[in-house]
Amino acid sequence: MILEIVKAGNSILRQQAKEVSDVLDPEIQKLIDDMEETLASEKKGVGLAAPQVGRSLRIISVKTADFTEVLINPVIVERHSLEKIAKERCLSIPSVEKKVRRSRKITVWYLTREGFELQLTLKDFSARVVQHEVDHLNGVLLTDK
Ligand SMILES: [Zn+2]
Repeated sequence: MILEIVKAGNSILRQQAKEVSDVLDPEIQKLIDDMEETLASEKKGVGLAAPQVGRSLRIISVKTADFTEVLINPVIVERHSLEKIAKERCLSIPSVEKKVRRSRKITVWYLTREGFELQLTLKDFSARVVQHEVDHLNGVLLTDK
């Protein structure tokens, strides 16, 4: 089911999202399916966080050329010092394009939708998208940067 995307101004985008305690819960699995479908329906969408569909939970869906994954309870365990400034957009703030400085390389820990722990290092655009989406889980928006 394609979900409606919450726009800036809605207080859910400012909340600290809660950790998912049971990844295999059918409601969580359904939410993940719906988030993936919603992201797929957005031609220019490369990432979506659960608060953007009105659920204050630590789940993000990422879809870039080299990284398509759902990350549950993601934690950026290392941000490498080399940074880059690039333009970003956000599905919740459609009218805004903003230059943001981010680490070019990060290491992120997360649970997969099957409940497995993974930790991997991402570079460049995929690293940027994950940093943007993790910001959403902490109530931070592009316009704050
Ligand atoms: Zn966003």
